This record gives sequence, structure tokens and C-alpha cells, in this order.
Amino acid sequence: MAMKEEIYEKYKTAGEIARKAREYGKKLIKEGVLVLDVVNEVEGKILEEGADLAFPVNISINEVAAHFTPKHNDKLVFKRGDLVKLDVGAHVDGFIADTAVTVEIASSRYEKLIESTKEALKNAINGIKPGVEVSQIGEIIGSTIEKYGFASIENLTGHSLEQFCLHAGISIPNFYDDALKGIKLERDMAVAIEPFATDGVGYVIAGKKGNIYRCLNPRRFFLRDPIAKREINFLKNEFKSLPFAERWYHKMLSKRSGLDSDYMLERLARQGYIKQYNQLIEKKSGKVAQTEHTIIIHDNGAEITT
Ligand code: MN
Ligand code: MN
Repeated sequence: MAMKEEIYEKYKTAGEIARKAREYGKKLIKEGVLVLDVVNEVEGKILEEGADLAFPVNISINEVAAHFTPKHNDKLVFKRGDLVKLDVGAHVDGFIADTAVTVEIASSRYEKLIESTKEALKNAINGIKPGVEVSQIGEIIGSTIEKYGFASIENLTGHSLEQFCLHAGISIPNFYDDALKGIKLERDMAVAIEPFATDGVGYVIAGKKGNIYRCLNPRRFFLRDPIAKREINFLKNEFKSLPFAERWYHKMLSKRSGLDSDYMLERLARQGYIKQYNQLIEKKSGKVAQTEHTIIIHDNGAEITT
């Protein structure tokens, strides 16, 4: 049975909008520009085009591989020579498009590094058909990046997508991972493929907090903290299980009460209601490039939606 037409159309629309937002955002990344302004512009573009935000626009710079978005009052500014990953997510009724591009500001020192991820992504997508093993796709990505003389990042992966679920069951590794042997991609799956390359060792570790959160489903709620209970219900209702930004919550909170968003999020994280994401930093502070597309798998191969 083919993917339901209605679902397919939603994936297509989300993909089209995410692509537009990514291309729009790419042009805004310049020396001296506030990172906060770019994420606000790109998120505004997604909403204006009629999709919803699947996750906060991530802007991860240099050795930061992923999971950073600015705070509501962030003063971070792009600098000449920065290697910038712009990672954008849009959804239509929960059907997600996830896509990323890397740009280097006013220099071309990392052209080859960026190119290695683009080439790896292209080769991986060309290798996809129903029944292909994810370890085989990982092999293609890893060997392509290696040919350029770089390391692919072994503990960051692509992922299958399901309605309102950004990281569904299947991971697509960025190297030949024997442990995933036998796991296959099948027809009608929606999948994000995202090669990461670095001139470091190819491994990321947790850094400072990245201002990104996600609601969890703890086994039991501790009702002793009525404000926490109220806020977690609010957040679950707003974002379901998709990631959200401190700055989104800050805007919503300040309209309702005098609570401090950062403080409240710390409190909810401490009580196990929400997950707090850390920035992911290359272990040896290597520079990191990433390219990502979302695809849908058909009988005759992969269709890029983004
Ligand atoms: Mn992404
Ligand atoms: Mn992704």
C-alpha cells in the first residue's frame, strides 16, 4: 500500500516551506548580524508560509555541531570566518521536514569540509531504495567524507520521521555501524539524512545548554508543585513532544505572568518534566559542517522533499 495521498501532500508542503526558509535564512547569515534576528526571521518565514515549527531554528557555529538556538535576549553576533550550520524544521499537521545547510562567513577555508557533507548526502540519497540497510547508507556517508580527508561524526545520526515525532525508531548512521546490521529502510518511510564532517576526531560531547527543551512523559507527576504542574500542561498542549525554545516560552510567559522563563525551565527539567538539550561540541574542537535533507522512499528510490 502506498503512502496515503493526504499524508504525502503534507510531507511535500512541509518540505517546500522548510526549503524556502532554509534558502531565505542562508542569505541572512553575514558578519555583524545578530544570530537571534536570523532565527526569528526564519521561523517567521515558516509560519508566514503556512507551516508550523517542528523545532527551534538551530544555528550551531564552528565546533558546535548541533542543538544551539539563541536565548530571547541573546547578543551573539556572526563573525567573519564562522562556519555556520543552519538547521530548519517545519511541519504540516505533524508531518515534518528537517533540513540543514552550512555556510562560511566571508571566507573559504572550509569549502572542502562543506563539500564533503553535500557529496556524502548526495551519494547516500542515490543509494536509497526500499530494503537497503541503514548500515550501508552509513558506509556510503562515512567513506565519502573520508575520501575528502575528514572524519564523519559517529555519534550524530539521521533519523526516521513520524507524525509529531522528530526522531522516530530508525537511526541512519554516518559511518559503517555493524551494530545496525539488518535494519532496513522501507517504502513510504520519511527519513532525514544528515552527514556531519569535521577536521576533529569525529565525536561530539555535551557542552553548555543550548536553550532547547522537550516535554517528557514522567511515570508519575509530583503534584506538590502546582505551578510546575500548570506550566508542564501548558507546554505539552503547545508543543506536544516536539522540541521548543526558551525564547518561545519566554514570549508566552511574559504575556501571562511575571515568571522567569529560564528559571521555570530549570525547575521543570530538575523535576523530570522536560528534557534540556545541551549543545553538542566536537570533542577536539574540530570545525563541523552538516548538510541535511528529508526524503520519502518510493519503489524507485528516494524523493527529496526539502
Ligand atoms: Mn536537522
Ligand atoms: Mn535531523
